[in-house]
Amino acid sequence: MPLVELQGVNKRYQFGRLTVKALQDVGLEIEKGEFVALSGPSGSGKSTLCHILGALDRADSGQVLLNGIDMAALDDDAKADFRNQSIGFVFQQFNLVPVLSALENVLLPLQFGATVGRDSQQKAWKLLESMGLADHSSHRPDKLSGGQQQRVAIARALVTDPAIVIADEPTANLDSTNAQLIVDTLRTLNRESGTTVVFSSHDMGLVKQADRAIHLADGRIAPS
Ligand code: ADP
Ligand code: ADP
Repeated sequence: MPLVELQGVNKRYQFGRLTVKALQDVGLEIEKGEFVALSGPSGSGKSTLCHILGALDRADSGQVLLNGIDMAALDDDAKADFRNQSIGFVFQQFNLVPVLSALENVLLPLQFGATVGRDSQQKAWKLLESMGLADHSSHRPDKLSGGQQQRVAIARALVTDPAIVIADEPTANLDSTNAQLIVDTLRTLNRESGTTVVFSSHDMGLVKQADRAIHLADGRIAPS
């Protein structure tokens, strides 16, 4: 069974009388353990697709199966539980909490389950260490570079041991050296722990490094 299976997915946004077709008839499958890039120019629907793959948003029509579960059958609470258990999401703007330390940011997803004991602390610390941030665990985000902040965000995405990590343009706000470091980090994660990774990017140099690229154009999957 594929980890991700989409069929005939449509998503539109309404601006007053104007309708934007963000995704049209999108179908795709992603197997467990794959390292997949989602490419396409700005406005092609990458972010919309990431949000649907990450159970942050719903399709208007079509079928979305994540880990064999039909997202349309879950109410919002069940969908949130599913997301917290199975999905790690990395955002373009890092989305760290400014008043918390790097370590506290990584611990955040575990606090939904209210089990932040010593084991959790240890796990969060080890994740930061694996991201090369052992010396920065007590720093607040504004004391970290963009690349460091994004690595904290990746550690945060991993702390729940998700089945899949979805990174929506994770390198868009980074210089090319830090962008490459983030893709290397995602690749290492995929190789060493077998975590399925999907990242979106409009940078073909980065996209080419994935095992497989899914190209979007005007909300449709384009032939690769
Ligand atoms: P990408 O990530 O490739 O830049 P998006 O998924 O963000 O593409 O956007 C796809 C299309 O949907 C674009 O035309 C965009 O303007 C539109 N869109 C995205 N989000 C919204 C929204 N919240 N409201 C209205 N239109 C949106
Ligand atoms: P974009 O990818 O369009 O540039 P972001 O990735 O920052 O923007 O956020 C996309 C959307 O996801 C926003 O509308 C935001 O409200 C929502 N969002 C951000 N963080 C979370 C979260 N942890 N859980 C649920 N929704 C979130």
